[in-house]
Amino acid sequence: MEGGCACGEVRYRLTSEPLVTHCCHCLNCQRQTGSAFVINLLIEADRVELLAGEPQPVDVPRDDGSVQQIYRCPTCEVALYSQYTYPEVRFVRAGSLDEPRGITPDVHIFTKSKVDWVVLPESVPAFEIFYDMDEQWPAASLERVDAIRRSR
Ligand SMILES: [Zn+2]
Ligand SMILES: [Zn+2]
Repeated sequence: MEGGCACGEVRYRLTSEPLVTHCCHCLNCQRQTGSAFVINLLIEADRVELLAGEPQPVDVPRDDGSVQQIYRCPTCEVALYSQYTYPEVRFVRAGSLDEPRGITPDVHIFTKSKVDWVVLPESVPAFEIFYDMDEQWPAASLERVDAIRRSR
C-alpha cells in the first residue's frame, strides 16, 4: 500500500500488512483531525518506506499532559503518521493512503467520547477506552511485537 501528502512531496509505501488498524474516537484525535475520529494503521517504523520527501515531527500536546509527535509534510503540512510512546511503531493515518477505502478498522477505541451519529458495526470489537492486546491482536502481530521488544 502506498500513500502520501497533498502536494506530492512525501510519498511512502507500507511493506507489509499493519499490526492492527485502530479507529480512535478520543478527543485528542478529534481535535487533531478536526473530524469525528481517526483511523490509524499501526506498523513497524522500518516497514514505512519513504519513497520521496521527509516528514517532519511536530510536538503536539495531549489532554493527559503527554506529547505526541505528528509527522507532517514540510511543505503542505498534511499529517502522515504519528509516534506515541514507542519509536519503533508508527501510527499511519489511513486517510493519507492512495486508497483509504480499502482499510477497515479491526477495533474501535475510546468510544466513550464517540459522537452519537457514528454508529459502529456490531461485528467489530469496540472499547470505551482501550483493550488487552493479547486478546485482540492476531498471533502473527503479537509475534512481531515480541520481535520489537527483543530488539531493544
Ligand atoms: Zn506535501
Ligand atoms: Zn485517539
